[in-house]
This record gives sequence, structure tokens and C-alpha cells, in this order.
Amino acid sequence: MAFNQIQFQHGMSITEFLGCFGTEAQCAEAVKQARWPDGFRCPSCGVADHYVVGHGARKLFQCNGCRHQTSLTAGSLMEHTKLPLTTWFLAGYLISQAKTGLSALALKRQLGVSYPTSWLLHQKINRAMARQESTHRLSGLVQIDDAYLGGERTGGKPGRGSENKVPFVAAVSINGKGHPMHLKLNLVSGFTAQAIKEWARDNLAPGSVVTSDGLSCFGAVTEAGCIHMPVVVGDLKPRDLPQFKWVNTVLGNLKTTLAGAFHSLKYSKYAGYYMAGFAYRFNRRFDLHTLVARLIVDVARCGPIPKRVLRAQAEACF
Ligand SMILES: [Zn+2]
Repeated sequence: MAFNQIQFQHGMSITEFLGCFGTEAQCAEAVKQARWPDGFRCPSCGVADHYVVGHGARKLFQCNGCRHQTSLTAGSLMEHTKLPLTTWFLAGYLISQAKTGLSALALKRQLGVSYPTSWLLHQKINRAMARQESTHRLSGLVQIDDAYLGGERTGGKPGRGSENKVPFVAAVSINGKGHPMHLKLNLVSGFTAQAIKEWARDNLAPGSVVTSDGLSCFGAVTEAGCIHMPVVVGDLKPRDLPQFKWVNTVLGNLKTTLAGAFHSLKYSKYAGYYMAGFAYRFNRRFDLHTLVARLIVDVARCGPIPKRVLRAQAEACF
């Protein structure tokens, strides 16, 4: 699908969303389907035979084998939540449909919840996206570039290595027609051979053919079984070269998103999650209509975040 067709495709309207996920019972059923697509299985002993106590989000499933009781949200990202599932689902809808990202503050206004609540929802949903993004690697032809968050220009080249900037790698896989397929945005400890080797092992399939502007550390992708094709940039800027068209387009969009939605982003702490959220939406742009349903599945299947992690984040934020 060409880019212009992607931009004009229909997402899910709010009316349609509310028709599918407007009540607690609908949301509870969706969580159940996401967590146990082949029917309930006791998380303790694996037995399917069970009975149900209560209703809606507070429904309890009791195993007939070992008597273990579990709730719809136990062991998931939504564990111990006091919010209605409809609020979680609406947050997922708003985050998934916002073309240029959505801040925790915008989420607070739209949901009518307190800022700490919207902040936690925002964090958790972005973490679910990041977790899902970490499960795939790019393959085939891949354009990569080094970039920084913070400082004067997100995605800008000048000032490599300057203070208060968070280094990250942007990588886009390209199909045989030269169209962008999938995106990876990952924080790295720096632009060193060791950091790039580790990044490539986690994010590129062996045999990928990697084009870069020749920054010396990128040669380390060969240590992860990839083929490196450095392009001599000379006096030109990489954004002027066709070899870097898509990675530069993406970096430009990312810059707009972060500038518009995340004015006070504490880059070093949270940037990885927000960039993963951006990549999550980009990688599912071919089908905006099912994006929200898939996000709900990913949120329902994401494990809980330990309380100590959340507490540390809350202290840093409020
Ligand atoms: Zn059991």
C-alpha cells in the first residue's frame, strides 16, 4: 500500500468503538478472549473445567481441579486496577488512534481522570506496546541511522555526543519496491561498536543487509551476522540521499510527534517507551481499523509491572 493510501484509510470511529467496547460486559469478554483464546485454563494447574463467580470485570474463575481462584485481570498489566475496564479500553483507543501520539495530560483531559491515573495508564499501555515491539526483528534491506532525543533537534545530526541528549538507533526495513515496511526505534548506551553489536543481535535478523552513512560503529552489525553497506555521504547530508529516504522521513515524523505531544518528556527515563509506542503504530499502519483491538489484546496479555517499579516512576514524576 502506498503512503498516501495509508494516510486516507479509515481508523475505527468512536461510535464504532463504543458499539464494540462501550460496556463493562463487552470489555470483560474481550479481555477473556485475549487472555484465553482457546477457553479458560487454570493458571495454577492447567485444568479447563471451572465455574464463574460474579460478573463483569470483577468476575472470578474458580478451577474445579485445584480450587484456585483467579480474576480476569490477575497476572496482567491491569492487575489490581480500580478503574473500570471501559476506561482502560478508551485509553487504548485514544492512544492507538492519535496520529501524532498522545500525552498523559491529553489523556487526563479526555478521560476525566486524575493526572496520576492518566500517567499510569499511559505508562502501562506504552509498556505493552514496547513489549510487543521487542518480539520481532527486522530483516532484508534495512536503512539505519543514528539520532538523538532532546537538545535542540530531535533526530538531528549536529551535536553528536553533546550533553543531555539520549542516543537512539532508527532502522527501517524496505521491501523490493523500495517501500518502508517495519520500523525499530531503540535507545542505545552510545554509538560504540559494542552497543551497536548488541542492538543488532536483538533487533536484526542474521543476513539483513544494512545501509548506513558509514559512522564507524555501524560496522559492528556484521558481528550479528548482518551485511553492512556503508554509503559515502561526503559533503551531503544523509537526508538528501535516496538510500536514507525512509529512515529520515520517520525521524522527521517522530520529531513532530514528540514536539507536539510530549513537551516535558524526561527523555532518559521514558523515551524508550514512547518511541516504542510510535514504532508500534507505524508497524500497524496498514490496518488502522484493527489497531485498537490488537492493542487491547497486547495490553491484556502483558504481565504486571512490579509495584516497586511503578513507585519509583511515580516518585520521579510527581
Ligand atoms: Zn487449577
